[in-house]
Amino acid sequence: MAKQTILVPDIGDYSNVPVIEVLVKVGDTIEKEQPLLVLESDKATMEVPADAAGTITAISVKLGDKVSKGTVIAEIEASAAAPAATPAPAATPAPVATPAPAAMAPAPKAGQYSGKVDHECEVLVLGAGPGGYSAAFRSADLGMNTVLVERYATLGGVCLNVGCIPSKALLHTTAVMDEVKTMAKHGITFGAPKIEIDQLRGYKESVIAKLTGGLAGMAKARKVKVVRGLGRFLDANHVEVELTSGDGQDLTGQKEVVRFQKAIIAAGSQPVKLPFLPEDPRIVDSTGALLLKSIPKRMLVIGGGIIGLEMATVYSTLGSRIDIAEMMDGLMAGADRDLEKVWEKFNAGRFEKIMLKTRAAKAEVKPDGIQVSFEGENAPAEPQTYDLVLVAVGRTPNGKKIAADKAGVQVDERGFIPVDKQMRTNVPNIFAIGDLVGQPMLAHKAVHEGHVAAEAAAGEKSYFDAKQIPSVAYTDPEVAWAGLTEEQCKAQGIAYEKGLFPWAASGRAIANGRDEGFTKLIFDAKTHRIIGGGIVGTHAGDLIGEVCLAIEMGADAVDIGKTIHPHPTLGESVGLAAEAAHGHCTDLPPVKKK
Ligand code: FAD
Repeated sequence: MAKQTILVPDIGDYSNVPVIEVLVKVGDTIEKEQPLLVLESDKATMEVPADAAGTITAISVKLGDKVSKGTVIAEIEASAAAPAATPAPAATPAPVATPAPAAMAPAPKAGQYSGKVDHECEVLVLGAGPGGYSAAFRSADLGMNTVLVERYATLGGVCLNVGCIPSKALLHTTAVMDEVKTMAKHGITFGAPKIEIDQLRGYKESVIAKLTGGLAGMAKARKVKVVRGLGRFLDANHVEVELTSGDGQDLTGQKEVVRFQKAIIAAGSQPVKLPFLPEDPRIVDSTGALLLKSIPKRMLVIGGGIIGLEMATVYSTLGSRIDIAEMMDGLMAGADRDLEKVWEKFNAGRFEKIMLKTRAAKAEVKPDGIQVSFEGENAPAEPQTYDLVLVAVGRTPNGKKIAADKAGVQVDERGFIPVDKQMRTNVPNIFAIGDLVGQPMLAHKAVHEGHVAAEAAAGEKSYFDAKQIPSVAYTDPEVAWAGLTEEQCKAQGIAYEKGLFPWAASGRAIANGRDEGFTKLIFDAKTHRIIGGGIVGTHAGDLIGEVCLAIEMGADAVDIGKTIHPHPTLGESVGLAAEAAHGHCTDLPPVKKK
């Protein structure tokens, strides 16, 4: 066991930064990259990670000390198994590295592909979803010669083409339709809506085209070379691309080979299929539902997660009668129940049946529709017939479809690719990001991982160490949460305090005629720092951003409550929830003295 000194790493332009938390003590066994200290400058809070694993024998800093690059933090007995110390990972925010010069891939190693090479690059990105295009653009911005391989005609992946964006275009339309109906209470009456479905579809397509066209322009401006086709690894430095054409992935029969120095795999995910369902155009996944071919009279949504509920919201406003079947005992898994209950109460009457603890067990194609039999606590006694069945039971990663084994990249049984905090796979020159590396499968997670992978590929000390990844259901009302939920705090035995501001006390929510929601902030009972938050109400997805920032910055209730928010806004509710946590919110009734 060797003694080792742990120093404060490069912390950018900062020096003499106060220590606001010491996270370890003498005798603790620490892992490499485990946070040891929390520093707070006038601009940012940052964690200082360990650059080696071992047992702490002495600590040289205490609360309130001021530290700079090179200050001794601790002495450790390095673990026997610990690898030789590598340069200390940088505390965030990381310094900006000088762009690496563009370089081509080295000549093939023994045993590698040695045939004709069509493209050479420093970084190859496989898949142009939000993770992939962000990684490619960041790579190019860092000065690396970058090739982006995508099988479809447009960039943007699931999110822009068949996910986040088209669903939000339709949700916006239907939210306006729903809001217009409520205007009668204000003395303003509109006629019944006339739905031109081709035009609505056209609007959705135009939104997609605007965004994907923008991405193509940005790729060009950055000189990112886009190779259109289906990519598969030949080895750890070569990918073969079967070129595709048309709107889908029609193979042209031509192949091109890209030789790369580093690769970032961003091949995403696809909807889970239920094996007992027959092939029929009336049984669709989210991509099929977003095509909006027609408005079914009766529709079944299998799966009560975010994607299922968003599509159910769209189709119910357009006039479909909808049943939802969910195997679990609640909808919108992951959200605290108090948030979901507000959504449920507001939507009582929107759907025909919400069948919890119930699964679709059998489906038969009949001339008049798809006949579905159910099993479970709330299963209807008789099979039900639907004009459209949407299967929204989750997504599965594409890790097994890219011949990753040829490059030596590990893929688990489910198709996920394990990575470290720099998004590096078990093969040092190959990174992986996005849906393909694990939950939550969300675009904003993929984008941030893409940036980290590109920066790490350029040699920067960049790490994915997010304290929170927000989730949003863009239903009506919206439900959004970030950081730890109350349920997670309880399960993990974390003592917490909360501040809750009901929108029934919000001037803006009342003026909008939508005061059913609330804003809740969750604080660590020991440190009083915010560790989570949830919002239910109109625009909750936009409002949660402030909670995300507060968690990342380690804010406490006083920081948030004393921040002047504009009045009258829904955003005010975040400051008011923090005041409530502190016990003195003048917009709420007085707290009874004990
Ligand atoms: P993807 O977006 O899946 O992109 C992967 C890309 O790789 C695709 O373009 C694919 O064609 C390409 N590819 C795969 N294999 C190959 C290959 N062998 N060769 C060449 N190209 C290949 N997330 C949110 O954050 N907010 C939302 O509101 C939201 N709404 C959603 C709504 C729906 C209906 C759906 C389905 C998803 C939604 N998501 C949302 C999830 C979000 O779309 C994904 O998390 C995100 O797209 C993942 O990005 P990615 O880059 O990992 O992969």
